[in-house]
Amino acid sequence: MDTVADKTEKNSGTQPVTLAACPVTHLKGIGNKTAEKLKRLGIVTVQDALFHLPLRYEDRTRITPIGRLQPYEPAVVEGIVELSDIKFGRRRMLLCRISDGTGFLTLRFFHFSSVQKEGLARGRRIRCYGEVRNGPQSLEIVHPEYSFIEDTETLSTEETLTPVYPATEGVHQLTLRSLTDNALALLQKIPLQELLPSSVCQKIGFPELHDAIQWIHRPPKDISLSMLMDDNHPARKRLVFEELLAHQISMKQLRQRAQKYHAPVINAKCALESRLLATLPFELTGAQKKVIEEIKKDLLKPCPMQRLIQGDVGCGKTLVAIMAALSVVEAGMQAVVMAPTEILSEQHFNNFCQWLKPLGIHVAWLTGKQKATERRQALEEIATGKAQVIVGTHALFQDEVEFKNPGLIVIDEQHRFGVHQRMALREKGKNGKQYPHQLIMTATPIPRTLAMTAYADLDVSIIDELPPGRKEVETIVVSSDRRDEIVARIHHACKEGRQAYWVCSLIEESEALQCQAASDTAVLLQECLPELKVGLIHGRMKPVDKEQVMSAFKLGDIDLLVATTVIEVGVDVPNASLMVIENSERFGLSQLHQLRGRVGRGSEKSSCVLLYQAPLSENSRTRLAVMRETSDGFKIAQHDLEIRGPGEVLGTRQTGMMQFHIADIIRDQALIPQVNKVSEELLVDYPENARLIVRRWLGETEKYGNVG
Ligand code: ADP
Ligand code: MG
Repeated sequence: MDTVADKTEKNSGTQPVTLAACPVTHLKGIGNKTAEKLKRLGIVTVQDALFHLPLRYEDRTRITPIGRLQPYEPAVVEGIVELSDIKFGRRRMLLCRISDGTGFLTLRFFHFSSVQKEGLARGRRIRCYGEVRNGPQSLEIVHPEYSFIEDTETLSTEETLTPVYPATEGVHQLTLRSLTDNALALLQKIPLQELLPSSVCQKIGFPELHDAIQWIHRPPKDISLSMLMDDNHPARKRLVFEELLAHQISMKQLRQRAQKYHAPVINAKCALESRLLATLPFELTGAQKKVIEEIKKDLLKPCPMQRLIQGDVGCGKTLVAIMAALSVVEAGMQAVVMAPTEILSEQHFNNFCQWLKPLGIHVAWLTGKQKATERRQALEEIATGKAQVIVGTHALFQDEVEFKNPGLIVIDEQHRFGVHQRMALREKGKNGKQYPHQLIMTATPIPRTLAMTAYADLDVSIIDELPPGRKEVETIVVSSDRRDEIVARIHHACKEGRQAYWVCSLIEESEALQCQAASDTAVLLQECLPELKVGLIHGRMKPVDKEQVMSAFKLGDIDLLVATTVIEVGVDVPNASLMVIENSERFGLSQLHQLRGRVGRGSEKSSCVLLYQAPLSENSRTRLAVMRETSDGFKIAQHDLEIRGPGEVLGTRQTGMMQFHIADIIRDQALIPQVNKVSEELLVDYPENARLIVRRWLGETEKYGNVG
């Protein structure tokens, strides 16, 4: 490929050959210092500048007469300064009144210099831009952008909508606008490399890349804001497509790389499995059998399995993990099971012991909150291989943990883990040249197209069947004013020998206060229900105490269990048939679904009461209605995704994954199947283009590939 012009060439005025290789310092006004700052935005080359896309646009093409201003709308206003005064209230501020003959407007500054104050002198003409609000005396703009107009001047308004770019400290909108102005000017001379095969562009009818970039940075004069934000505009689609493609390719490369690693070939004899199956009081569901077969096929391969199991709450994922663990144990290797919370790891530990001990398999448990002696023992068993199955929390990541020969790592409830953590855990389990197989289980199922994007580095299995006999959980939405009725309902249910959960809200910011709130609620409920045994469980209790409470609840010694969200994932008490969730409007839908999944596991008809604090916002009303109307985890996840966005739902926001310049995987999901096809085509037939597309959109550090 052609390289960028070197320093002498720059000085002699020769143009570099590609924009992808041309440093931003080539552009007018960008010195080394600015270039350093631009790096923080991922802008190193002119191409990077062109792919630094506007977040939104502002309409500064018209001047609005002050008399026609509307609150909450941004506007350009021109007027003469009538008065400008420093006010000393609770905060010192500068108030400046301007008028244009149709009305007057206040400009309010909380931060200002004396030069600024002097400048805004009576009689000066200014033009300003900002969002108009209702002020105490008149409409006002807080901290407007403004400039002075000399008497003789007639300042023209902006010709196009004004782009607003993602910025960073020390790099202002004006810098970014002039940066992109200059980059676009250079684009007129040197085209961007078209990386999509022409067959693709033709088939999809995309505009030229060049035109799409020009359009998105400097929208045409006559276009309105609403037209500009239209998702289906071809220019936007063109860029969205390429960005989705870049992510897809990057994830697939990650997967290809993983397939080059070695993993132990595990040819399950199934002796242990048959013995376990013989003791189960039920048959595996068809879906469980299908997924277990898929796993066994993966284990036969000499490269690490990377499989995600999606299945609704209660579909029996734990047993599938146990079956996988058995194959590995039978081959003389360790199986590691990682859960997101202490309490869930504990429950898994108990379950695994219950199923595996009779088969003579030794299970160890490791968490962060164990006593030193217990912990030392667990660490030793893990290192010597005495522990054949190891259940734990994040504590499994720690340096002191040394596995003897891990053949399988199971990650439960993976939506809390990012791609990086998956890779880090794989590294942790590395044994000589061999990597362990990985199985990831999630109860937040997501639509297929989204899974293709979010999990493109994984094979996906779906358990689409619940064990027979599960009853639909009746869900009712009730204002907290009617708490008494709910308490009566609990009384009634428990008198009939059933059990109930009461989940306390997330009102308090701190865990400590939350736990306190749960304690208070438990006391209150006990007072209202003197005949019942009320128990309490929350995240700050010692593991032994939690264990005691959970087993008392399991044994039926506790009728009503008051809990913080620690019971969210995985807890299994079939006799519990009533779930009350306080302040349910504050929870995410997937979280409510998880909580609701704690009931309806036995033969009794179960209910879930969603208490809310009136008044409900429109949005909350809709969300709670979704909960009432469906129990399908896929549908619920879809709604959750639409409302909260994929970053929140998949827990990827923190990990920086799935962050896009222009694409939105919910809004643009219709494109994904095609993106998927094209990504295959590029990887096979145009690998160099594939590499360049990833570089263009994801930058130097391939986002997903830089761990391990
Ligand atoms: P999840 O998929 O939510 O993790 P679990 O693995 O906790 O679900 O299983 C929920 C309950 O269903 C457990 O009590 C488990 O023993 C039971 N279970 C699992 N598979 C079956 C089956 N095939 N038939 C009946 N019950 C089952
Ligand atoms: Mg589970």
